[in-house]
This record gives sequence, C-alpha cells and structure tokens, in this order.
Amino acid sequence: MTEAVSGDTLHGSLTGRLIMTTRTAVPDSTTEPSVLRAERYRVCFDNPQQAALCAQIAGACRYVWNHMLADCQWRYRMWKMYRIGPKPSVSFFTLGHRFTVLRNDPAHAWLQAYPASVVRYALKYLADAYARSFDSADAGLPHFKSRHRTTPGFTIPQDVRMDGTRLHIPKVGWVRLSGSGQYLGCRPKQVRVLKEGTERHPKWYAHVFHEVPADRVRPPAPTGDLGVDRNVGQATDSNGHVYTLPDTSNLDANIRRKQRKADKARERSRRNGQPLSHRGRRICGQLNRLYRKRRCKRENVGHQHSRKLADRAHTVVVEDLHTKAMTQSAKGTVEEPGRNVKSNWGRLERNLAYKAGALVKVDPAYTSQTCAVCQHVDKANRKTQAVFKCTACGHTANADHNAAINILAKGVPLARLARGVGASARRGAFPSGTPTTREPDRPGPGGSASVPSVNPSVYPSEGGPP
Ligand SMILES: [Zn+2]
Repeated sequence: MTEAVSGDTLHGSLTGRLIMTTRTAVPDSTTEPSVLRAERYRVCFDNPQQAALCAQIAGACRYVWNHMLADCQWRYRMWKMYRIGPKPSVSFFTLGHRFTVLRNDPAHAWLQAYPASVVRYALKYLADAYARSFDSADAGLPHFKSRHRTTPGFTIPQDVRMDGTRLHIPKVGWVRLSGSGQYLGCRPKQVRVLKEGTERHPKWYAHVFHEVPADRVRPPAPTGDLGVDRNVGQATDSNGHVYTLPDTSNLDANIRRKQRKADKARERSRRNGQPLSHRGRRICGQLNRLYRKRRCKRENVGHQHSRKLADRAHTVVVEDLHTKAMTQSAKGTVEEPGRNVKSNWGRLERNLAYKAGALVKVDPAYTSQTCAVCQHVDKANRKTQAVFKCTACGHTANADHNAAINILAKGVPLARLARGVGASARRGAFPSGTPTTREPDRPGPGGSASVPSVNPSVYPSEGGPP
C-alpha cells in the first residue's frame, strides 16, 4: 500500500471511506476499496519499565490537556475583558503550535522525554471536544482530567510500526500484542493504547485501527429484509427469532453496593479535607472493574446479534429510537420507557451500520398497535405486553413479532432506496456510477420515514404520502 492517509481524518470514524491523497501514482491500489476495522489486543510488556514509561506518556498527555485547557480558558477570559484582537482560536493547529512552544520552554523540558507526536495528539481530542461543544448544545465545554477518574491512555496518530504481533511504541520500544489477530497483516493506521483494570493490577490494551481490503471483510447476506422490534430485555425480528440481552441483575446489584461504598469514602474525604483514602481508591478501582465487565458483556452480545442479523438479511429495518422516546413521553403510554431501550440497544444499531448491507430507520408510531394481517389500528389490539389480538379480524400473534413485521413493511420502500449506499456499496459490491436512488420526477415513498443513517442526501427528509 502506497497511499498516504492523513491521520487526522481517522479520529471518530471507524467505518467511513478513507480520504486518500495519492503520493505515488499507483492507480490500482488507490482505487481498491478498503474499510477501517478496529481490533483490540492485550499488550504484554517485556519488562516493568516499559509499562511505567507508558503510564508516564499517558500522564504527560493528561498534563498537556489540563495545561492547555487552562491556557485556553485564560485567553478567553482576557479576550472577553479587553476585546483585543479576534476571539482566541482553539483549533488543533493553534494548540499544536502552542504545544511546540511549551515543549521548548525550559520549565517543561521534561516533556522532551516523551514522543512529541503522541503527546501532541491529546490536543486533537481537546480541539474536537471544543468543536463538539460549539456544534451542539448537548455537549458541554471540555473538562479537566482528574488523575484518579480518567482512563490513562494515549494515541499513536500515524506512522504505526507493527511487525507480526509486535507493536512499536515510540520511546518505549517493541511490545508484544495478544488477541485474535483477525486483521494481522493489514496496514495499521492508528493505535490507541489504554490502561484498564485496577491500580494494583493494571491491564494495558491496544486498539489498532487496521486498513482492511474490502474482500477480507465478511460480507452481509446478499438478499433478504428483516424488521427488528427492540424492547428492554429482548429484540424480535420479523421471522420470529428472539435476541436476548444478557441478564446483568447480579452485576448491577454489585455495582450499586460498590457505588454506595465509594460515595461514603468520598464523603469522608470531603469532610476531613483529605485526599481520597487508600481504601476509597481501591473501591473506585473495583467499581471500574465491574463497570468494564458489564460493558464487555453488552458489547459482546451486541456484536453477536448484529452478526446474526447481517448473516440472515441484507437489509435490516429498525425503529428510530429518538422518535420512539419522544412519542412515548409525549403520549405517556404504559409501554417501556424509550430511554432504556436506547441505551441498551444503541450499540446494536452502531454495529449493524457497518455489518449489514443497509440499515434503515423508520418512525415506530403505531407499529405495536397495527395488525400485520389486516392493517387495523387499535390500541385495544395489544392485549398485554406479550399478546396481540386483532379486534377486527381476530389475528393472534406475539406482540413483538407483529410489531417487527410492521416495522419491516414500513421500511421496505426505503430499503429499496437504501440499496447502493450501505456497507456493501462502500465495499464495492455494486458497480460505481450507477445510482440506485429514486428518479427525480417520482415522489418519495410515503410514511413519515426518518432519515436513514447512511447517506441522508438521497432520502426524502420528510415524506408525504405519494
Ligand atoms: Zn387484523
């Protein structure tokens, strides 16, 4: 592979098409479609000095983040007071310049011991955090990173060197990686190194973003459509398959118990004016380990379910949970709260977005009250949470299965449009230059279809009935 890819475009998008700038004219390799895939490896150090050095690099990143954040806040206050010159910039370009000045400052000579590109990249995240807070009202301004509450880590932004299962960390040296090695041999583009586990038993992980050739990625099913109705504990597809979430009630109870202990320890330290006690810190570590366990369980199941769905059908139709939460809170129905569903099933959606051939989102209004056979809409159709019985034609079914069929019916017209912009299209499964979107003179399909995630420009943003 000879194309050079700017490392800055990587952050935050694992599945997007790469922006390629051709340095050498090798037409075949530049047009060859490839996708980004992240793989998580456990890092094995040859000696404890390597682990200590990694922890120091992570500490330097945290220091630089906090230092520059304080600097940005000070500059902004000064600007607000005296209004001299333009509003101070918080772009990565500006922060990177200030980092160079900081690194050459004799008071910060210790920064010279750490790799400049790695530590500077912490400011990329700071600039991104500022950009997010300017873009949307939900994201607040960036916070300072506290020593005991943040996960230590750093990013090797570019020029990643890997040799088989070994990774080169600048100024640390070669470390061994262990993992499934699914994408070994593919070009590594960026690596995020994180320290997890407790203070006493730290575990280091490397998330390697590989540039994987399209033909090495497992393709979705070539045909077929499936609708999926998601509820708090389980999801049902339109063929009647049930996908359950793992039972984490014991884990949740343990977490609540530890949270109470941690709260007490924090309260004690606040009352005494002392830093958090050793016991308190140990409890926080145990709490982090439990959080990680629960997160891993959910992530694992999300990956398994999305793979099954992508293997069973090319196009997967799901309900748009944003609208679901809104309609339910507005109407005050007795159905499950939409927010819970969203937090438990959001990762399934994210996984499907790159595994399935196409992912279509539809407005879920009335899908649980409509009869899949005669289309009769009645609130009384839904006898209980599980049983559906149509008051018009007497059709009886599992309520979730019935809803999944309705979701599929809503999504099928959109799915036809979606063909050609999904993951398989990005992978080059369809010939390029043949748009499969609707003709401009034909009105879009009916229904209040929400905008599917793939390429909003080809969908009707708000559809009226044809
Ligand atoms: Zn009916």
